[in-house]
Amino acid sequence: MRQTSYFHTVIIGAGAAGMMCAARTGQGGKSVALLDHAVKIGEKIRISGGGRCNFTNRNLNGHDGSPYYVSQQPRFVRYALSRYTAQDFMHLLDKYGIAYHEKHKGQMFCDDSAQAVVEMLQNECRLGSVTWYTGCTVESLTALPIAPAGYEQARFGINTDQGLFYCRNLVIATGGLAVPAVGASPFGYEVAKQFGHHIIPPEAALVPLRFEKWAEQGFDTLSGIALPVRISTGSGKQAVVFDEDLLFRHKGLSGPAVLQISSYWQPGRHIMVNLVPDTDLAEVLCRDKVGKKIQLKTALKQLCPVLPERLIDFWLGREPFQAVAGQKWADIPNALLQQLGQSLNHWTVLPTGSDGHKKAEVTRGGVDVKEINPKTMQSKQCEGLYFIGEVMDVTGWLGGYNFQWAWASAVCAAEALRADEHI
Ligand SMILES: Cc1cc2nc3c(=O)[nH]c(=O)nc-3n(C[C@H](O)[C@H](O)[C@H](O)COP(=O)(O)OP(=O)(O)OC[C@H]3O[C@@H](n4cnc5c(N)ncnc54)[C@H](O)[C@@H]3O)c2cc1C
Repeated sequence: MRQTSYFHTVIIGAGAAGMMCAARTGQGGKSVALLDHAVKIGEKIRISGGGRCNFTNRNLNGHDGSPYYVSQQPRFVRYALSRYTAQDFMHLLDKYGIAYHEKHKGQMFCDDSAQAVVEMLQNECRLGSVTWYTGCTVESLTALPIAPAGYEQARFGINTDQGLFYCRNLVIATGGLAVPAVGASPFGYEVAKQFGHHIIPPEAALVPLRFEKWAEQGFDTLSGIALPVRISTGSGKQAVVFDEDLLFRHKGLSGPAVLQISSYWQPGRHIMVNLVPDTDLAEVLCRDKVGKKIQLKTALKQLCPVLPERLIDFWLGREPFQAVAGQKWADIPNALLQQLGQSLNHWTVLPTGSDGHKKAEVTRGGVDVKEINPKTMQSKQCEGLYFIGEVMDVTGWLGGYNFQWAWASAVCAAEALRADEHI
């Protein structure tokens, strides 16, 4: 005999957004069930930020947060991010005595293990008397045409391997497709489609990029080199630029610069990398060469102290610079020096793809936010249905923006659920 239960709110997905929403809704006196197919909860929080969880960013301080997000409707995030700010989340950490620090560019990390954040959220759920169902598979769910006898408030029915759940409100917090190994699934998109929502095609984002003939061109030999660069894609008003660190890998490029640009990159489009962002190298190489007896390689080392020697050797070992690499700087024709400068200031590469969802940190695209109320996260298609966190078409920059979106969207939904007069 299958067990049947009623909850005011059932939340599917006990990740960052799901736990925050469950805790807040439960603490408002509503009965809440939190379902997850994973047995181990909060895995993405635990592995985030190299195990220290970059839980928010100070730039999300109540002012317009939309510039830090990729979405078909970037303004959608404004209300939620002003309603629940980076400071609000830090106050919660303070309450639990969880120490944290700022790394750079406003990125806030735990001093110790990310596990503390998971435990804090679990404790917040306990304070809200949330009922947990882990290792729980949802078999089907439906909007009920008529409330079943004895469950007059119910609007949804959820069939699971742990029983039948009726609820008045259903919150989808199942995240995106990044890292299936820790529980990611397309479940949220399927539910959204079932209720008539449109999905912006989900793609891997904040992900390393790959390039054709990388090893054939010898770039694999640069593996391990990291340096600060200016990276960009698109042109005119569509241009996106980041000043971040680049990392050469065996199979392509990674590091914060590439992860950031990957969220904007479209297949077929080039990416421009300025390897010496603070110097107009073509101009300086031609201007300052007069009377210089040092070799070109030495000149480059002096002019660009941030360029690792291995990268300089590689660059000068390529055509057409190979022939002049050992010559005196003053003797090298300006045309060649200009070409060298431009090749380092405007290195243009064409990615062939990315490492995909397995290696991505987030998913770009998702449930179209045009069909969601930005103040409550409630579906405009179906009363009582909510979407929170990464399942929506909201993708934050690297640097704590994705967790802050999870917290903020969850808090907005929880406030709407608490205000619901039904039990
Ligand atoms: C390696 C890595 C590092 C990251 N580091 C950072 C960082 O430092 N800072 C930052 O801001 N962001 C970071 N992120 C992104 C961040 O983790 C996510 O944006 C955030 O967790 C999204 O929260 P969410 O609650 O929407 O989804 P999730 O946290 O992904 O939670 C979704 C939950 O739904 C469950 N679920 C999925 N499908 C089903 C189903 N069919 N049935 C039941 N349950 C289901 C999952 O098991 C999971 O528990 C990182 C991501 C990765 C992968």
